[in-house]
Amino acid sequence: MSFLQQLQQYPQTQWREQILATTPAQIDQALRRSRLRVEDFAALLSPQVSDAQLEAMAAAAHAITSRRFGRIIQLYAPLYLSNECHNGCKYCGFNAGNKMARRTLSLAEIEKDALVLRNQGFRHLLLLTGEAPKVAGIDFLEAAIARIKPLCGSISIEVFPMDFAGYERMVAAGVDGLTVYQETYDLELYRELHPYGPKSNYNFRLEAPEAAGKAGLRRIGVGALLGLGDCLTDVFYTGLHALYLARRFWRTQVTISFPRLRPAEGGFQPRSLVSDRQLTQFICALRLLIHDAGLILSTREKAELRDNLLPLGITQMSAGSCTAPGGYSDRSDDGQQFEISDHRTPAEIAALLAARGYEAVWKDWDNAFLERTA
Ligand code: SF4
Repeated sequence: MSFLQQLQQYPQTQWREQILATTPAQIDQALRRSRLRVEDFAALLSPQVSDAQLEAMAAAAHAITSRRFGRIIQLYAPLYLSNECHNGCKYCGFNAGNKMARRTLSLAEIEKDALVLRNQGFRHLLLLTGEAPKVAGIDFLEAAIARIKPLCGSISIEVFPMDFAGYERMVAAGVDGLTVYQETYDLELYRELHPYGPKSNYNFRLEAPEAAGKAGLRRIGVGALLGLGDCLTDVFYTGLHALYLARRFWRTQVTISFPRLRPAEGGFQPRSLVSDRQLTQFICALRLLIHDAGLILSTREKAELRDNLLPLGITQMSAGSCTAPGGYSDRSDDGQQFEISDHRTPAEIAALLAARGYEAVWKDWDNAFLERTA
């Protein structure tokens, strides 16, 4: 069964009502389980969770994360290769209808940015583009990866969704990880927010992580853009999606991100605000649902909040991020996708982690490991 088929078994209105109707006893029952059922996970997303229950969730999430991951946080940096895009996502500064300086980096410029990040210590880069296949398609990505792979052990991508053949090419090029946010799992809202361009195809995007799993990507990330739609059901479906991928592709690590909408060019306002308390609750609930999932928090969030969420289950963080192509070597934010909130340098983040008793991991994977064990 595909995830698309599975999703149809969990109607949105019914599950939203179930989450809202959760009783304190159901929350306590979920907290007593060593492995959550889907119903328990739904209960832990409920606004009825009390402060004491949230504390219990946080303690359990911390214990599981410490057991499974130890005291380490993997650091990565986003590297924007292009801000050209044919899609009309209403919430994104890069959308095709937004008049802004468009830029696709040359291979030399990509290498220059990658070198800046390497000199800061990063050995795990996340490459990002919009969706403009003629200027920044699969050929372009392959060339970019070939150019910078010697500078970093691990490369992930957060680009346009591909089919199985496309992901096979990415694996062959040396990509380890993939992130594809569904943005919102609410089909009707998805159609409204993605009025034109290839991204208006909901099913193709939803099925991309499965195509990547079949192609052998070793890390696959999902997430919803919190604030776009109903966050309770979007986080619920994110959990189901991650669980599905973790069970189906057991050799692949599943990761979950928690992007909250930030102000972007074009002035899109989030429909619903996700509070810091809710975000904390969602992170804890997802950790209790999938003990082995990598949980990622980016520089979209403020420094203080990131510091406070550290012990609860986060395993990866970005640091010193710039969301504009060429921004690291130009030292400019012109053409950025969104404003970041945590402006600390990578060295400052590493020092903070050390002060809190965590080890910053700049590189956790290299294809050479595969060559040695082959
Ligand atoms: S969210 Fe991605 S696909 Fe949509 S407009 Fe922005 S860059 Fe393009």
